[in-house]
This record gives sequence, structure tokens and C-alpha cells, in this order.
Amino acid sequence: MQDYVQELMSQVKAKNPSEPEFHQAVEEVVESLALVLEKHPEYRATKILERIIEPERVVLFRVPWVDDQGDVQLNRGFRIEMNSAIGPYKGGLRFHPSVNLGILKFLAFEQVFKNSLTTLPMGGGKGGSDFDPKGKSDNEVMRFCQSFMSELYRHIGPNTDIPAGDIGVGAREIGFLFGQYKKLRNEFTGVLTGKGLNWGGSLIRPEATGYGAVYFAAEMLNTRRETLEGKVCLVSGSGNVSQFTAEKLLELGAKVVTLSDSSGYIYDDSGINREKLNFVMELKNLRRGRIKEYTEKYPSAVYTPVDPSFDHNPLWDHKADCAFPSATQNEINPQDAQNLINNGVYVVSEGANMPTHIDGVRIFLDKKILYGPGKAANAGGVAVSGLEMAQNSMRMPWTREEVDKRLQTIMKNIHKTCVEVAERFDRAGNYVDGANIGGFLKVADAMIDQGVV
Ligand code: NAP
Repeated sequence: MQDYVQELMSQVKAKNPSEPEFHQAVEEVVESLALVLEKHPEYRATKILERIIEPERVVLFRVPWVDDQGDVQLNRGFRIEMNSAIGPYKGGLRFHPSVNLGILKFLAFEQVFKNSLTTLPMGGGKGGSDFDPKGKSDNEVMRFCQSFMSELYRHIGPNTDIPAGDIGVGAREIGFLFGQYKKLRNEFTGVLTGKGLNWGGSLIRPEATGYGAVYFAAEMLNTRRETLEGKVCLVSGSGNVSQFTAEKLLELGAKVVTLSDSSGYIYDDSGINREKLNFVMELKNLRRGRIKEYTEKYPSAVYTPVDPSFDHNPLWDHKADCAFPSATQNEINPQDAQNLINNGVYVVSEGANMPTHIDGVRIFLDKKILYGPGKAANAGGVAVSGLEMAQNSMRMPWTREEVDKRLQTIMKNIHKTCVEVAERFDRAGNYVDGANIGGFLKVADAMIDQGVV
């Protein structure tokens, strides 16, 4: 089986050159699936793995727009429709200058397994643009979103492909995108999730990814009869996922000591309490400022700028119990993973997608810490997006309590699936194998049922 896996990986690298993140995401999954292929030759015979790696469709388009000075600007737009075996394509849009085909393919690939784990009928997709919303006026962001949707609208729909937010795409961007879709199609449908509450959005959707990552950590701790109460937690990022991870951690009695952005991080030894978190939310969501400003308001906290020449990120080099990487991919390299272990961290719940480099993952697995990979731990966001779709179809909203209860149940079930599947394949305690295999089986069986399409 190792030969088959190696051959498959070299084909993936040859066919998809210059896409290291995509190679990394595929490699991690394929390593887990080697266990399944031995027991289930039908998957190999029907080339399920080869097919699941190939997107069903990739759309790449030009996004021209006019800035406030009247100059023409040009960006590139993408939508990766990865797999629709168990439902319409579903996954976020990322607006960030680093966006390229390989990054979106890794995200779309991960999304297929994640969406399957939620138990909701959603296929996998992802999209976005190399547009940078930072430093742009609201009008510029609106003109960009309108131009982006002027092409995307013909590829999506409430039963075809339902995008949502991701890095750089929050409530403001979803609003502009939805407005343009509605104008072009002349229909009011649930074509995007993460919508405003007054126009089809779901309660708890903004909170869902962060809350879900914390619920997943609580489930992992529960296997050792422990809770989050009193635990010291490192959180990275200061965007949507980080803010609501911190909020839920505070509610459950944990102590959050870090937050970051792409310029640097703050360490607050006395803990980021509710008042300080409100300040961060206002800073990031309304004033769109930098995390450094936290230390101007709370001088006892320490700000450390990012130093690209460093071989490690000092954010991960503090004494703590738990880590919630919630910014971006590969933000924990092998050195960072080792530093976390050396500092006593024994719970890692990934709010971000693939934040740990594959060699860092191997360190976590080797040390047998409670390590929840992103495709399981951060599935709460897309799960509540699925619940938003259900409410849109019913044309009836659920209460906050109802949605939160369903989110908790889904996170519990994802955890249970990971644990049970890992045990079934002799990998007890390995949430990576549990999530990869658990997510794969449902999609693979659906693909076999539907024939070679
Ligand atoms: P967001 O609101 O845009 O926040 C992103 C945060 O990460 C910001 O603090 C940003 O700092 C920081 N960041 C972005 N790129 C970075 C880089 N290259 N280096 C260091 N810091 C960086 O996005 P989000 O929705 O919270 O998403 C965060 C992560 O969660 C992503 O991996 C995303 O794919 C994942 N995720 C999100 C959802 C969701 O529902 N939103 C669901 C599942 C997974 P700056 O402000 O300086 O850029």
C-alpha cells in the first residue's frame, strides 16, 4: 500500500506543480486513507482517491474594478467546485493578497471531508481573490465585490454552490456580494451564508467557528475527565474565529493570554477579560485597526512584532495548557510545535485551516496530546452555515438557543465520529486519522453509488 500512496503523491505533485499547500493537505489525508484502502479494495478499484483529489470544476476569472482615484484595478477571482457527491458545493470565499490556485484547492479539498463530518448534506468548495480589503474604503470594497459577483453569479445558486466568508470576507463583504447576486438574478435566495440577521442570516453564525473549536476542545478534555475551567490558552489571530474562540473560552472559565494579527502579537499575562475582548472586537471589526493598539489601551500587555527572519513564532513559546491557532495555514511550524509541547500545552484545537505544518502534526501525534485537526475542530462554522441554509429553505428562523444547541450536538457528534473511527482502524486517540477516514467514507460511498461521473 505504501507504494501506491507514494505513486499517488508523485502524480499529485507532477500534475499540480507549485501548489505546496495542496500537496500538504492531500498527503495528510492519503496517509490516513492507506489504512482504509487495505480493508476496502473497492475504493482503489473505482479510483475514488484519484477522483476525490481532482476538482469537479475550477472557475478562474478577471475582476476589474475602479478605485476611489478613478484608476482601474485588476484582481483574479476563483471558485473551486471540488466535490458534490453528498450535496451542493459549500465553502467560503477568501480575499487576501496571498490567495492563489493552490491555496484555494487545499482549502476546497479539506472542506469536502469537513462538510461530510458535520453530517449535513453539503459538498465541498472554496473560492476567493487576491484582492486585499485592508486599507480600502467601503466604496472600493463594494465595487470590488460587485465586479466579483458579476462573474461568480452564473456558477452558483442555492442548490448548486453556496459560498460563505473566510479570511477577509465578513458581514460587510457578504452583504455587497448578496446585493449584487440578487440584482443580477432577480431572486432572493439563500445563495450565500453568513448573511445579516435582517435578511436571511442565522443567529450564532458569526460565533460558530470559534465556539465550535472550543466545544471540540471541551470534548477532547472530557475524555480525560477534565474541563476548560482555569486553563491558560494561547489564541492566534484576532479576526472572526479568534474573537469568538476567546469569547467562549472566557464563558467557560479559561484564561486567554494572546491574540495576534499578521503584524505581531500581544501577550497579556493578566488575561484578556470581557472588557478587553470588547475593545479588540471594536478595534478589529469597526475601526479595522492593528492588534498593537491593544498595548496602548492596556500598557501591562506586551506587543511583539512579527520577525520574518525568526525560525519560530514567539506566540507559541509561552507556558500554557491549550492552543487555539485561529489565523492562517502553517502558522505552527515543527519548531513551534515542539515549543508548545515544551511549554506544557497538551490541547490543540485548530480554528484555522491547516495551521500546523505536517511535521508539526507528527510531533503532536507522537506526544499523544489532545490534537483536534481543523477539519474536525473548526467544522462548527460550516455546520451553522448548513443550518442557515435549512432556515432559508423553511423561511423560518431558529432562536439563538436552538442554533447553539444544534451546534453543540454537531460538535459532539464530530468528536464521537473521530474517536470511534480511529478506534475501528486501530488508531485510538488519533483525531487526524479519525477525521480523515470518518469524512472520507461517506463521500466515497456516495461516489460509488453515483457511478463514474
Ligand atoms: P479573519 O476574520 O479575516 O481573520 C483572520 C486573522 O488572521 C486576522 O487576525 C489576520 O490578521 C490573521 N492573518 C491572516 N493571514 C495571516 C498571515 N498570513 N499571517 C498571520 N496572520 C494572518 O478570518 P477568519 O474568518 O477568522 O479565518 C481565520 C482562519 O479560520 C482561516 O484559516 C480560515 O480559513 C479559518 N476558518 C474560518 C471559518 C469562518 O467561519 N470564518 C470557518 C472555518 C475555518 P490581519 O488582520 O493582519 O490580516
